[in-house]
Amino acid sequence: MNQLIARCLEVSRDFAEQDSVELDLCDLLAEVAGEFTGAGADIRGRKGPDCHLRVRPLALKRILSNLVDNALRYGGEQPVDIEYRIEENSAEICVLDRGPGIPEEEREAVFRPFYRLEPSRSSRTGGSGLGLAIVRQLATANGWTVGLEARPGGGTVACVRVPLEEK
Ligand code: ATP
Ligand code: MG
Repeated sequence: MNQLIARCLEVSRDFAEQDSVELDLCDLLAEVAGEFTGAGADIRGRKGPDCHLRVRPLALKRILSNLVDNALRYGGEQPVDIEYRIEENSAEICVLDRGPGIPEEEREAVFRPFYRLEPSRSSRTGGSGLGLAIVRQLATANGWTVGLEARPGGGTVACVRVPLEEK
């Protein structure tokens, strides 16, 4: 219960964030990866083109760290990749793992609060089932989209798409 309350307080700060700032996406991804590599996680980033975005940084960081947390937790101890691509009107940032994947019919359901596949998968993982619900809410509030797909060769790809402002 204490964990849940702490989580709510943290997230309410992310939602209350007012200002968008111009930032370097590579720096932000390095910061997110750094939070986990300190704890021994194996995260590989593929450097793409330079990208400056105007975003609410706490929101984007929370989304990515929830996705990386899942990739590490359910990714079967395999390295996790973070990649990004700049398209004409948007930046797409993806977190890729080599875990068991999420069955297609569950890929929307896992965004619901407290919905977990783990009990049936008999994992020792102890998540609360809120990570992806927070991801979806934060993304929607900012006009971003998130989705889960099967990764070719096995695993999951979780991507967030951030529209780029017209200059
Ligand atoms: P929390 O994030 O609150 O600590 P959680 O990880 O269980 O708990 P979500 O992040 O919302 O909650 O994920 C919901 C469920 O979706 C997980 O319990 C897991 O069953 C499944 N899931 C999420 N990400 C992945 C993934 N990358 N690979 C396989 N299953 C996943
Ligand atoms: Mg989670």
